Amino acid sequence: MPESEVSLNTDLLVVGGGIAGITTAVESSEAGLDVVLIEKEPYLGGRVSRFHHYFPKLCPPACGLEINYKRLRGNPSVKIYTLSEVQSIEGKEGDYTVTITVKPRYVHPWAMDYTEWAKSCPVEIEDDFNYGLNNKKAVYRNYENAFPQTFVVDESVVDNPDFREWVKSCPDGGIDLEMKPLTIKVKTASIAWATGWQPYDANKLDILSYGKHPDIITNVMMERLAAENGPTAGKITLPSGKDKVGSVAFVQCAGSRDENHLPFCSGVCCLASLKQASYVLEQYPEADVHMFYIDVRTPGRLEDFYQEREENPKINMHRGKVARVDIEEDGLIVTAENTLTATLEKVKVDLVVLATGMQPSTMDTPPPIDISMDENGFIEQKADAEGIYGVGTCVRPYDVAATLQDATGAAVKALQMARRA
Ligand SMILES: Cc1cc2nc3c(=O)[nH]c(=O)nc-3n(C[C@H](O)[C@H](O)[C@H](O)COP(=O)(O)OP(=O)(O)OC[C@H]3O[C@@H](n4cnc5c(N)ncnc54)[C@H](O)[C@@H]3O)c2cc1C
Repeated sequence: MPESEVSLNTDLLVVGGGIAGITTAVESSEAGLDVVLIEKEPYLGGRVSRFHHYFPKLCPPACGLEINYKRLRGNPSVKIYTLSEVQSIEGKEGDYTVTITVKPRYVHPWAMDYTEWAKSCPVEIEDDFNYGLNNKKAVYRNYENAFPQTFVVDESVVDNPDFREWVKSCPDGGIDLEMKPLTIKVKTASIAWATGWQPYDANKLDILSYGKHPDIITNVMMERLAAENGPTAGKITLPSGKDKVGSVAFVQCAGSRDENHLPFCSGVCCLASLKQASYVLEQYPEADVHMFYIDVRTPGRLEDFYQEREENPKINMHRGKVARVDIEEDGLIVTAENTLTATLEKVKVDLVVLATGMQPSTMDTPPPIDISMDENGFIEQKADAEGIYGVGTCVRPYDVAATLQDATGAAVKALQMARRA
């Protein structure tokens, strides 16, 4: 066998290291299974690691993630591979062979914390963790408490001569630009597919002018603007660099419940915008917040979260789907027909936040094996291949509480499979 290939036997392979995948891995391993967890990005945590706060409690996701990372660190039954993706799946329930490619990190796990040294790096790349709101150094760690703690070199700069020259100044020699990809063959009884969601591409929403003005952003960008480990250290500012934020419009169903885009409701966007309205008012109590909606969907116990904000006179609710966003010299004009008052409203604001929905990652990257999926790319719970099952938001657009429940159910399924194998 060539040096760059390893073989592993396990009870469960979890694909995707967001909150769904982490929870499935932790719960099933603590119940006695051997687990391999793979994640395509350099760090675990998925989308929630980019949020400022969770609704409804408005607590930072970092706390819950850290508890899970601690459970993973102390658990020898879970083998974790980042920068990893499945190439092929063969076999059947109880006996799959999965080929996985692990990209090089170019940094040894024993390397020191490069926070200070990386500041002198001459090469920068777009910061995809912050949805392109800023650039970052080409040697980076997404944030201080990221898991794993090891820095990573962005693969796009490995052949850059300036970068290679600078790497010679590495204080502990922990960077190796000659690292090669690794292939892993995993034999496993079952596979939990937890590759989550991606924001619907706002560039497709021409009438909402995304990409034509820096102060028209999406809801996921708003999370990064508010986050302490984000591009502005948590200060919500206008990306155009102009004055402080005096008014904001949240445009609900930006591409959702629309046959031309995402026909379904993501079920979390109303709550996310109401949460983000609180972020704005916390920093700018005098700001005017406008929310344009078709109807507000905050089911069950989350209705209280909506009611509290609806009573706030600084949050102006407009029942109407936004027809267009126009750019004027002194502001952004949001136009909608209010279906309660039957009037055409035009509201001028400093910042527009498009509440785009959650599209399953499996829409673009389905598992490389025959599995039941619906027309929107969600994995159907009753999969054709019984030993492979979807978990979390590649099954439905869940909030975190529902994702955790689904992941716990997936762990039980993995236990049953391992017992049958
Ligand atoms: C704007 C917004 C705000 C929200 N705020 C809240 C909130 O406050 N409270 C709340 O309860 N819910 C909130 N949600 C919902 C929340 O984001 C989801 O419930 C949660 O992210 C689901 O986690 P997940 O693990 O299923 O998916 P993800 O977080 O997407 O994780 C999936 C992981 O799989 C990885 N991956 C993808 N493809 C592959 C592949 N091919 N191979 C290997 N790995 C792969 C990804 O890199 C990622 O790490 C919000 C949603 C939106 C849109």
